[in-house]
Formats: sequence, structure tokens, C-alpha cells
Amino acid sequence: MDGTFNENDLSRVVEADRKNVWHHLIQHQPFESAIDPRIIVEGKGMKVWDQKGKEHLDAVSGGVWTVNVGYGRESIANAVRDQLVKLNYFAGSAGSIPGALFAEKLLEKMPGLDRMYYCNSGSEANEKAFKMVRQIAHKKYGGKKHKILYRDRDYHGTTIACLSAGGQDERNAQYGPFAPGFVRVPHCLEYRAFEQEGAPQENYGVWAADQIEKVILAEGPDTVGALCLEPVTAGGGVITPPDGYWDRVQEICKKYDILLHIDEVVCGVGRTGTWFGYQQYGIQPDMVTMAKGVASGYAAIACLVTTEAVFDMFKDDPSDKLNYFRDISTFGGCTAGPAAAIENMRIIEDEKLLENTTQMGAYMLDQLHALADKHAVIGDVRGKGLFLGAELVTDRDSRAPAEEAKVQAVVGNCMAQGVIIGATNRSLPGKNNSLCFSPALIATKDDINHIIAAVDKALGDVFA
Ligand code: PMP
Repeated sequence: MDGTFNENDLSRVVEADRKNVWHHLIQHQPFESAIDPRIIVEGKGMKVWDQKGKEHLDAVSGGVWTVNVGYGRESIANAVRDQLVKLNYFAGSAGSIPGALFAEKLLEKMPGLDRMYYCNSGSEANEKAFKMVRQIAHKKYGGKKHKILYRDRDYHGTTIACLSAGGQDERNAQYGPFAPGFVRVPHCLEYRAFEQEGAPQENYGVWAADQIEKVILAEGPDTVGALCLEPVTAGGGVITPPDGYWDRVQEICKKYDILLHIDEVVCGVGRTGTWFGYQQYGIQPDMVTMAKGVASGYAAIACLVTTEAVFDMFKDDPSDKLNYFRDISTFGGCTAGPAAAIENMRIIEDEKLLENTTQMGAYMLDQLHALADKHAVIGDVRGKGLFLGAELVTDRDSRAPAEEAKVQAVVGNCMAQGVIIGATNRSLPGKNNSLCFSPALIATKDDINHIIAAVDKALGDVFA
């Protein structure tokens, strides 16, 4: 740490935090009485330092899979600074230089997709996609084709409409009533296929996709406008889709004229080893939303990208005063986001971080399998690129989920060892039993060995 704050200053900051900040996603009573609250003060590369100067190796890229290019990137800070002193903001109908250039650069990586809509959070990007689906339903189908399908265990954001499309029940509890017109389809987690009635031993992927078709037929295909899916389900358990799944999903969407909306808020911009998660599976979405890795958390930015065909539906009749997307995002006009995002992409390209992600992801997957050979509590290992999970069970035959307290104890044990790992969403009762790992795309074999050694020790300690 550079000593900007002395110890007294920092204990004052800890107190100020404890007394004044309403933190995300935690129960406050235990947090406030914790003996050792944490403030993260500084970061460099894969590491962060807390208020006591303790070093942590961050295996979750800022807690929620965001800091893809690692901490302390001066070139991004400089790009943002230069842009801010030139023009920090302008919104509405006028464009900006970084906004135009980032859209051009990103869309080059997304063949078949042609238009970029700027906003400022993953939830907001998803909401805008939902609004487009609704407006298309009004424009083309007399309001009928307005339903949006979402999947069990997927998450699309925190607003009421996004929670209406939320497949994680406890996250939704106490926030209803929800928006109508959102319909759930079953998950595609092969490891838990035995819990799904009728699931076959073979060709599970095609069967899982066929369950979506069943829902479409039950709802009426002329009422379904879009299907919204994560390419690899993140907080719902790091669920990689089974073989055959995506081809069948694409076929079903084409068959019933349903827009395929891929939520790349977590997987987007390199996390899985390709620019986007959907590119791992050879599919062609109509709409893609992204946020976290777009500027690696150096500035807030989120994007909704669509095909030209979707865009065109909003401009076919200029005499109709409602014939445009009547929507704005105040902070979609901040220039820091696209300025940071351009430099973020340059780093990923120049440092060959997609290649690194593929190689290090395969290495880490092997290491997790080796850990599973040693610890029977690991029931399943899965993931893509540097986005990996290990599902913990009480025994491998029944596959009964490991107790939440024990999963959290593994996370806490790693933390005490100076390695920050994650666990899938605490709000999935009985399903929050996976450890998850999403180190920055710069991770080396040494970093991965360090993470694996900490998990090895933690599993040994907790499940001794
Ligand atoms: N989609 C997915 C897949 C996410 O994981 C998240 C956030 N964790 C969101 C959407 C919402 O993004 P935000 O928190 O930026 O609104």
C-alpha cells in the first residue's frame, strides 16, 4: 500500500463505513457486530490489499466477476481522465467520440449484430431489451407476442421487471407482485437432471431444450416474443449448457419466430475465452446485453446490442409518432464508460488475454478435477474459460447439496489464507452449494496453483 492513509485514518474509515453505508447483499446485524470488517484499499493485477495491509489474491475479480483485466491499470485511468477533461457527458440525441468508436470496435467482434444502445447497469440493459420486445409486440403483433421466457436458476438483475424474469426464488421473495408476461422454463444443469421428471440418461441437452418448446406450446407460440438466457448461468451455479442444448434452442427460436436474448452481463468481454459466451456455442442471438467486464469496473457502462433487423423494426414508418424506441438512460451519456471500454479491449487484444483465458481456464479445470479426486465432497466441476465452479455435496451417490454453512466456511477459510473465492448465490435454498472462481483474465499458473492450494486446505479443514 502507498501509505496515503495512516492506521488512524483507516480505523476511522472502517467506523464511517460501519455506521453509514447500507451494503449490498448482506445481513447487516452480523456485519455490524463483526470484529473484523473489511475495507479494500488498493489493488494491483490479481491482488488487493485491505485496511490492515493484508494482501489477498482475488479469485473472483472484484467479488462479482467484473475486473477482467485486473487492478491498477494506469492506461485505463489515463484514457478516462483525458476523456473527462475533454467532455465528461452529453446525452440524448447527440453522440460522443468514445461512444461511436467503442460501438464500432465492439460490433466488429460480434458478427451478425449491428447496433449498440448504451446504458449503465446490467439490469438496465436487460430492462431495455424487455421493453424492445414489448414494443415489437405492439408494433408487429397487435400486442400479442409479448411474453418473455426466462430460465430457472438464471438471474437478470435487480429491478422489479428483472426479478420478474428471475429464476432464483429467494432473491424474489418479498418483492412481489411482479410484472406479468414473464414465464419460467426449466434449467439445464445435467448434474441435477435426475431431479427433473422424465430427464433421459442420454441426450440430456436436447431434452432440456425441448422443455422450452413445451412451455412455448403451452403458452401459445403467438404470445411468446423472446427467450432470455445466460450463456453460462453464473450465480445460479456456474452451469455450462450440455451438448446439443444451444443448437436446439436456436432451432426452437427460429421455428416460433422468438427473439433470442443472451444475457452476457457476466460472460461478456472475454470471461469464457471468447469475446462473448454465446460464441462458444455457435449461436446467433438477436439481442445481447453486457455490463461487468465491458470496462472491467473502471467506469460504469452497460450495453444492449441488437441485430439490424431488430433496429429496423423501430424505424419503418416515420409518419407514426410512436415509431421509435422512446427510452433514455441518463448515465448512458457518460463518456468515461466507452473511453474505459476502448482501452479495456485494447488490453485484452494486445496482451492476448482471450488466449490466456482459454489456456488458464483449461489448466484450472484440470486442477479442480484433481481436487475432486482428493475430496469426495466435490460432486461436480464445471465451467468455461476462467469462469469455473465446484459443486459440493454431502455424498456423491445422493448428490445431496452440502450445507450452506460449510460452503461459507470454505470461503471464509480461503479468505483467512488470503485468497478470495466465491460461492454461488446464497439466495438459492438448497442450491447454493457451489464454490465459484473467476480470476482476472491475466491469471498465471502460479496464481491458479495458489488458489487451488488454498481451496485444498480449506476443504480439508472444513470437511475433516
Ligand atoms: N445479469 C446477470 C447474469 C448478472 O449476473 C447480473 C448481476 N450480477 C445482472 C444481470 C445485473 O447486473 P447489474 O448488477 O449491473 O444490474
